[in-house]
Amino acid sequence: MPRGLMKGPVFEQVLQAIRRNRGRVKVVVLYHGGEPLLNPRFFDMVGRLKAADPALHVKTVTNGALLSPRAIRKLLQCGLDAIEISLDGASPEENQYIRRKSNTREIVSRIRQLAEMVKRSDSKKPDVYINTTQFIRGHRPPPARPARPPAWLTRRLAGTVTGIKTAFAIQWPGTSAGGEYEVIPAARRKKAARRCDHVMNTVTVCADGSVAPCCYDLTRRMILGHVLKQPLEKIWNNRAYRALRKAIRTGRPHALCAGCAVVGAAGYLLPLKGPKTVAADEPRPGH
Ligand code: SF4
Repeated sequence: MPRGLMKGPVFEQVLQAIRRNRGRVKVVVLYHGGEPLLNPRFFDMVGRLKAADPALHVKTVTNGALLSPRAIRKLLQCGLDAIEISLDGASPEENQYIRRKSNTREIVSRIRQLAEMVKRSDSKKPDVYINTTQFIRGHRPPPARPARPPAWLTRRLAGTVTGIKTAFAIQWPGTSAGGEYEVIPAARRKKAARRCDHVMNTVTVCADGSVAPCCYDLTRRMILGHVLKQPLEKIWNNRAYRALRKAIRTGRPHALCAGCAVVGAAGYLLPLKGPKTVAADEPRPGH
């Protein structure tokens, strides 16, 4: 997967496009599969986006590993509207297994610190959400209802953070289970949808300025343009973008979209390695 921090000229092009489309662009997510707090210019970028349009909702997604006291102070000052922190799995050990070398206990303590400082602040921003992805472990066939937050997170963070969002782990288009997971198809095959909001209402600009079709295309299998070569509006209306939308609309999605839960059935991931834990919403011994 290509990695990198968004360079100044790329951000300037995005900012100019937002200024040109003030009022039409509603939300900016400073995140595309990496760790945004690695970028030393992150807080400045948030401030400039909010200065360009105070009505913009600016949010980010992080694994929380870089939530130092200094970063927490800057998050409160920069104007960020919402931060989503990913903590996954049915136990702290499982989160630790997924996020090698991170310190789950430390991260949870920093999140509590951030959320409590937000409550005491005048702005009450950013909203602090936990994103938690759970495995369907223990559920065959996959459950029809949404995932529930695991006890280890609700015990430590419910009532402190703004909310806990849950999802089951599914296979993303273009990714391989890599011997780490078994892929369990959805119980009932969903009729293929002919609409993808990602290509109708969102645009994904990668750190190097290339434009990808959606947040699922982390490896940039399809590049629709480059903001250092063309204005974003031209890319949005170019032939490749129109062809991708048409393919979805006519029920013949591009190969890129094969296996995508947006237009087809989800394949749920069941881990073959890692800590042996029960499903997030199954009764746990002693609880
Ligand atoms: S349908 Fe295609 S473009 Fe839409 S989210 Fe899925 S992979 Fe991306």
